[in-house]
Amino acid sequence: MARDLGGVLILLVPVLLFVWRTGAGGLDVDQFLSRSILEFSSSSAATPQRTWKANGSRNSLPMVGDEDGMEEILRLARRPEAVEWVKGVRRRIHEHPELAYEEVETGRLIMAELEGMSLGYRFPLATTGIVASIGTGEPPFVALRADMDALPIQEAVEWKFKSKVPGKMHACGHDAHVAMLVGAAKILKAREHLLKGTVKLLFQPAEEAGIGAKRMIEDGALKGVEAIFALHVSHELPTSVIGSKAGPLLAGCGFFKAEIRGSEGPAGNMHYSVDPILAASAAVVSLQNIVSREANPLDSQVVSVSTVNGGSNLDSVPESVTLGGTFRAFSNTSFYKLRQRIKEVIITQASVYRCTASVHFFENEGFYPPMVNNEIMYEHVKKVAISLLGPKNYRVVSPLMGAEDFSFYSEIIPAAFYYIGVRNESLGSIHSAHSPYFMIDEDSLPVGAAVHAAIAERYLSEFGEIIVNSKKASARAIGSIKRKANEYLDG
Ligand SMILES: [Zn+2]
Ligand SMILES: [Zn+2]
Repeated sequence: MARDLGGVLILLVPVLLFVWRTGAGGLDVDQFLSRSILEFSSSSAATPQRTWKANGSRNSLPMVGDEDGMEEILRLARRPEAVEWVKGVRRRIHEHPELAYEEVETGRLIMAELEGMSLGYRFPLATTGIVASIGTGEPPFVALRADMDALPIQEAVEWKFKSKVPGKMHACGHDAHVAMLVGAAKILKAREHLLKGTVKLLFQPAEEAGIGAKRMIEDGALKGVEAIFALHVSHELPTSVIGSKAGPLLAGCGFFKAEIRGSEGPAGNMHYSVDPILAASAAVVSLQNIVSREANPLDSQVVSVSTVNGGSNLDSVPESVTLGGTFRAFSNTSFYKLRQRIKEVIITQASVYRCTASVHFFENEGFYPPMVNNEIMYEHVKKVAISLLGPKNYRVVSPLMGAEDFSFYSEIIPAAFYYIGVRNESLGSIHSAHSPYFMIDEDSLPVGAAVHAAIAERYLSEFGEIIVNSKKASARAIGSIKRKANEYLDG
């Protein structure tokens, strides 16, 4: 069989070369793509320039019209009744936080809002997830994602809409993310006749625990989707300021737990036992050498041992010791190398001390690849944010060692992740996510809705035609290759 396949390939190679060089049937994909990108770049350069002042307010200089719809999108988001409504959505979710895969009431609220807008949706995906659609129902498809889950934290902020569920709190702003995406749905619905394709809204469970993004993908949430975008609230950026960067933005994050086994024995006569405490101590020290002695110093990485447990009797050594921690890196290569070296170091160090060891990596619960922004999608976010809010409301941010399961989407299709500021010192919204004092400036909600909507709408109008044309060209190319191959084989 292998020989037969080789024969067909030998026959096809000259055909493929011929077709590729002559561009038969409009075939030359390289030329087509570079032409498309050039055309896209030149049309981007021709985008009308506006002038702005801080906080997204327009100044009094003459405007150039609203061909790209930015004025109208902001106007729709900032209508007083829309602002009150989107704040109300967020407050209802904030009062009833639900943990990973338990987002039942949150989902009901979302579906009721979607039904109120006469939007179709799929439910459930990944147990409690929802995917709604707006637009033509036809390709191209672009996706926007919001995570829905809360954290097992007791809210310490005293305010009217404080969490009503003891020990649970939206301390990472996912209530705001849902409200902003529902807000975007309303704006996009009002502009549905202008959409040149379909926007998919992904309401995803279990970002904090349980890698809900991976389950959403397994349940088909990205079917046909060409690109995906998401935002996260940030207490480091002032209210409604957008921030992001090209390339690696958030680290890949994994956790490990090892058990080192020896044999119990009297601490006064150690030759009767095999000491797992000494082996674990050597393993902890050796784990620190992975980053300090094996990693490129320009490629940021972390290995931290955060727990060691073993023994309770001062006069005997225990049977076993457990130790564990986390590891982070900004590229898949470095990330998976860390995983491999952590396992090797623990098992090998244990054997030096006559112990055995096993290492567990929690790959189905908390194993996040690095979040890397696609360069072109990042530029799209930046361009739309500046176009909508002005250059003073856009910042390039530094990468962080935190993690996000949005990286599962970005591993598969072009994606961009960005922050929206919620920091307002006069309100006290200065605490980091996962703090019991975490709170947001709700004035960011309508702006987040507008940025979501603008990113999706403009993606469809600016990239949609390129994607549809390139797919048609690919289909023509494949048809042409098949025809030429058949002719060659028949002849
Ligand atoms: Zn979080
Ligand atoms: Zn979060």
